[in-house]
Amino acid sequence: MNRMTQNANRYYRALLEQDPSFEGLFVVAVRTTGIFCRPTCRARKAKRENVEFYPDSDTAAAAGFRPCKICRPTELPVEDVPEFFRVLSERLGAEPLERLTDQKIRSLGFVPATVRRWFKRRYNMTFQAWQRMLRMNAAFQRLQQGENVTVAALASGYESLSGFGASFRNAFGFAPSQKEPLRMITARRLESPIGPLLACAVDEGICYLQFMDQRLLESELKDMCRRLKAVMLYGEHPHLAALADQLAQYFDGDRRNFDLPIAVPGTDFQRRAWRALQEIPYGTTASYADQARALGSPGAVRATGTANRLNRVTIVVPCHRVIGSNGGLSGYGGGVWRKQWLLQFEKRTLARGAATVGQAGLLRRPG
Ligand SMILES: [Zn+2]
Repeated sequence: MNRMTQNANRYYRALLEQDPSFEGLFVVAVRTTGIFCRPTCRARKAKRENVEFYPDSDTAAAAGFRPCKICRPTELPVEDVPEFFRVLSERLGAEPLERLTDQKIRSLGFVPATVRRWFKRRYNMTFQAWQRMLRMNAAFQRLQQGENVTVAALASGYESLSGFGASFRNAFGFAPSQKEPLRMITARRLESPIGPLLACAVDEGICYLQFMDQRLLESELKDMCRRLKAVMLYGEHPHLAALADQLAQYFDGDRRNFDLPIAVPGTDFQRRAWRALQEIPYGTTASYADQARALGSPGAVRATGTANRLNRVTIVVPCHRVIGSNGGLSGYGGGVWRKQWLLQFEKRTLARGAATVGQAGLLRRPG
């Protein structure tokens, strides 16, 4: 039994729920119409016994099916924002203090589990945490406008000041206080062929870029907010737009070095170590000992390794190019398989000269 057949029941359920987290994992072909669709197609659903699942458009087309004109499965999936996200955000925009419980989500015609999965996948947080973040953002904006903490807390739907303080500390890692001006970190999700990344920027530069499935993501973000005395909000920032462009060029094989300001808090030694990482040429590797020598501190191999582990701007500050002196891959925050992928990708691109990676490659999901 192949993988498609094994997963057919799960896929059919995803199809009924128009679950966007299955985009790119399969296309569905309908025997009675001869048409194939994305998992999220809005067209009427065919009966289970009339559908077949294929891993991608090519195999469905090779089996004689035509692409659907509604969901256009052969085109690049624009990160589709699902209907429930539009409806729920509009609702929260109009009624920021409303708590959208599972029951309310159901009464609006959506499946709470789908909402939950999508938020987890897209923002690595629960929908409840997302709502708390919106309330927190509202409070933050009030504090910025000079309102006192009590007024801001109550106006943002917190019933008590201590409750607000606790939520604020929980979200950002430090207490709300009017004495210190708060800074803002803008965050955004970026797609890559090896999984989605979370990118953050302050006005001075990029301060965070890590794979969203990283185990320590949440504690790292909190740590960063605390160090920068900043709150984190999802949104747009010129540095993030530049990063998105440059990262796409990198993954197309058209960019070898990044030209972006980096603003990660760290000691002098750490900053020097991160700069040394950026000196390792594209498509090559260095050992920790090489990097320590390049830093002018040949004895500081261990400290160099520690600095690399604390690198928060993956790919742009290419710690994936540092390997053990025995040639082993050693560790990587985003997982060793990603390190291996990046090294092979750079070597292959280098060997091909200015070759580019096809767009289909950009959308492939890791195993
Ligand atoms: Zn369709």
